[in-house]
Amino acid sequence: MTLSEASSIAIVGGGIAGPALALSLKKHHGIVSTIYELRPEGDDRGVNIALAPNAVRVLQHIGVYDELRVQGYSYEELLVTNAKSQYLGKIWQGSKKRYNYACLRIHRATVQKALLREVKAQGIPIVYGKQLIGLHEGEHTVELRFSDGTKATSNFVVGADGVHSNVRDAIMTTKTDYSGFMGIIGMNLQRDSLHESAKSVMLPNFVFGKTGFVAIMPSDYHGTEVDFFSTMPYPARSREEWEELSSDKSKLQNILQQRFGKEWPQFISNITKEYSKEGLGLYPFFEVPPLDRWTSVSGRVILIGDSAHAFTPQAGQGAAVGLEDAESLSHTMSREGFVSDHMHFLKIWERHRQARLVQVKHVTDINGRLRSPDSPFVQYLKEWLMWGNFKWAGPMGNLEWLFGYSAEDILSLF
Ligand SMILES: Cc1cc2nc3c(=O)[nH]c(=O)nc-3n(C[C@H](O)[C@H](O)[C@H](O)COP(=O)(O)OP(=O)(O)OC[C@H]3O[C@@H](n4cnc5c(N)ncnc54)[C@H](O)[C@@H]3O)c2cc1C
Repeated sequence: MTLSEASSIAIVGGGIAGPALALSLKKHHGIVSTIYELRPEGDDRGVNIALAPNAVRVLQHIGVYDELRVQGYSYEELLVTNAKSQYLGKIWQGSKKRYNYACLRIHRATVQKALLREVKAQGIPIVYGKQLIGLHEGEHTVELRFSDGTKATSNFVVGADGVHSNVRDAIMTTKTDYSGFMGIIGMNLQRDSLHESAKSVMLPNFVFGKTGFVAIMPSDYHGTEVDFFSTMPYPARSREEWEELSSDKSKLQNILQQRFGKEWPQFISNITKEYSKEGLGLYPFFEVPPLDRWTSVSGRVILIGDSAHAFTPQAGQGAAVGLEDAESLSHTMSREGFVSDHMHFLKIWERHRQARLVQVKHVTDINGRLRSPDSPFVQYLKEWLMWGNFKWAGPMGNLEWLFGYSAEDILSLF
């Protein structure tokens, strides 16, 4: 008996990983699930994100890449320099030749909307404005409880409800922690409004200096618009204090000016002064600690995406690994025999995904370290190290394992 004949699947969260799972289940395996999403239809939260080839591959498999490709900026090479504009290296964040795909810089909400449009087109039910508040697991079913007092029942529940996941809280005790890093971003700058020193620089450009890190990334199809962001260590604070800092745009501008206002390439220093402070966005990064399991004890509740493994976006991989989870889980749940022995299949999936996430988190943490401010001497060493590493590894940066991943590989493990 296959899953489609025997069981129902409820997906909590209509962000990135949730709709991707629903689409992969339907398009690859003919299984119709139901999505429950907290927010109303048309929500447009988020910022520009980079979708590496391992993310784009999943989007292609579920049929939304062609639509997205023309709404974002595709690039392969990224230039790495220091604050004196000296060349440190180039890295391929995508490659049509090596990975079949370039990297795509695009707004997260554009991706989410395309996924949800396709969900609708495929006739997959999605209920907006539904906040899951609790779960009760029976022998063969799980009861979902929502904040409006309604309930639903399903054979399997997948939690794709993000870093502060209620599904996760219903099946285990964990605490999300502030990672020690935050990000400040400004979007929608006209590229030709940048200081003329930007004309001689290849974009996207990652710039590393002793006061931190700044990225300048084209973000629309023709590359005429750019965004800039910096991720940086910053002391922890309460939720209210984060909200206060987030709305204090003068303070955010001040943070940027103090770090990058002097002794940085002119086009970056100018941005810290000239970019309208009202457009600045602040993101404290929260992390889910490594979890022993991404499933409930009965195996009827499963976690994917940020709810299972949120970490900082300092390798540009959060959405990417959530998409990988989604497609690989759909191939797992549709295996012959899953209904009678779901624990067996889920354990294989979980081990495979957890091993990969350890590697991705490692790269992310190294990037966080490289982006952090340091004394002039340590910074000097870091820059030599980066230069040497680019020389040794070449533009592929030994990242084939990261960008070349295909979710279908899970099939060889069963
Ligand atoms: C500043 C920043 C930059 C980033 N840059 C990149 C990047 O360059 N590349 C990259 O790959 N990733 C990046 N990321 C990470 C990426 O955005 C996330 O990893 C990704 O969105 C996670 O997808 P998800 O579907 O797991 O969770 P989410 O996108 O958070 O979606 C969760 C969904 O669940 C819903 N929900 C929450 N609680 C409930 C509930 N109780 N009941 C019902 N629904 C609920 C939410 O409304 C939401 O729609 C970045 C993140 C940030 C903050």
